Amino acid sequence: MKLISNTLWLLCLTLLLTACNAGQMAEKRATCGMSEGNTMADKIERTDDEWREILTEEQYRILRQKGTERAFTGRYNDFKGDGVYVCSGCGQELFDSQTKYNSGSGWPSFWAPSDSGRIDEDSDMSLGMVRIEINCGRCGAHLGHRFDDGPDPTGQRYCVNSASLEFKKRDEDTTEGE
Ligand SMILES: [Zn+2]
Repeated sequence: MKLISNTLWLLCLTLLLTACNAGQMAEKRATCGMSEGNTMADKIERTDDEWREILTEEQYRILRQKGTERAFTGRYNDFKGDGVYVCSGCGQELFDSQTKYNSGSGWPSFWAPSDSGRIDEDSDMSLGMVRIEINCGRCGAHLGHRFDDGPDPTGQRYCVNSASLEFKKRDEDTTEGE
């Protein structure tokens, strides 16, 4: 009698453990599935020579050497197309034209990124000021700076070099760079 109940107990335990493992596996699969569709996770790393080959001289100076284009000279400063702006280094979507506004600064300005997770921030102490530098979270390209003098609803101003951006019309915004 004792033997039978022991066996039964073991059987139950085995079943329970198997069920547990199956549960964990399912959970793992779900997590993997989520990150698969998530392009923010795939960082792009290229050598300096590769960047020089891909980018124009002006883009290289701005994206890879933290340069700034002259105010009012960028192609998107006055541009009002309806669509999204992707990173000119890697094609990741960064801003939506619906958040673009005329800040009068001479550079394309947005009050919010498409997704804050796509932009990395760094403090920039150059020019004797403390500014917040914004970079593409995927390829590390320098985009511009973020200031807190923007309009509602965020009060933020993402001041971006046109050279760091590539405009895509709304119906073409599903294609990712390259
Ligand atoms: Zn990028």
